[in-house]
Amino acid sequence: MTNIEFVYFDLDDTLLDHKYAEKQALQEMVVAHSALFNHAAFEVVLKRYSGINHEIWHQYSLGKLSKDGAKVGRFTQLLEACQSPGIDQAAVLAQEYLDRYASHWVAIEGAIEAFVRTAYQLPVGILTNGFSEVQRSKLLQFPELGKHSKTIIISEDIGHLKPSPILFEHARAQAGLEPDRILYVGDSLSSDVEGGTAAGWKVAWYSDQDSDHPDVWSFTDWNDFSQRIFPGR
Ligand SMILES: [Mg+2]
Repeated sequence: MTNIEFVYFDLDDTLLDHKYAEKQALQEMVVAHSALFNHAAFEVVLKRYSGINHEIWHQYSLGKLSKDGAKVGRFTQLLEACQSPGIDQAAVLAQEYLDRYASHWVAIEGAIEAFVRTAYQLPVGILTNGFSEVQRSKLLQFPELGKHSKTIIISEDIGHLKPSPILFEHARAQAGLEPDRILYVGDSLSSDVEGGTAAGWKVAWYSDQDSDHPDVWSFTDWNDFSQRIFPGR
């Protein structure tokens, strides 16, 4: 790829398998606290949680919810949706979820290797939405990411979430480059693809969908990513 001078990577579901850890954590909780979830099937709980969590993050991104309000509120709403006999347990479950979630972090196949390979050629950084302490814990567990990153930007520290143009502008200034010299690698259409292109960045979309935007290309295999940005190497 020509003209790219800095590569930012998204963390969740791009480099690390967030969805896997989320699913494992919830599955363990449904088994451990079946009565609290009113004996609902795991697939039902997961589907409810996904919908609730999506909306909670949206409210949090708009500043309508505090961090603790988001963390606990998603479990209050989940227990309500299950007609739980123990809605007062939401705060306990919220913490238990985060602990279990943290025990299941794994890298997406080939992602760390591609990240490091990229870092040997170009300056790289991490640009991620999420709670600071959670995202920093992930970086501690995968030290290659922090070791090779010139900048690490977590939305909570800046006070704006992707796709906020303020967050992308902050990241651009940290890179010290014009926007069209930056490549963003991420999985989310709304946060990463639309946020990145609106900021004038190039985007590598970790997805099996195609984009018709001229500055976006898709990939589903990290070996293909490396080939695409460093052909012939
Ligand atoms: Mg992501």
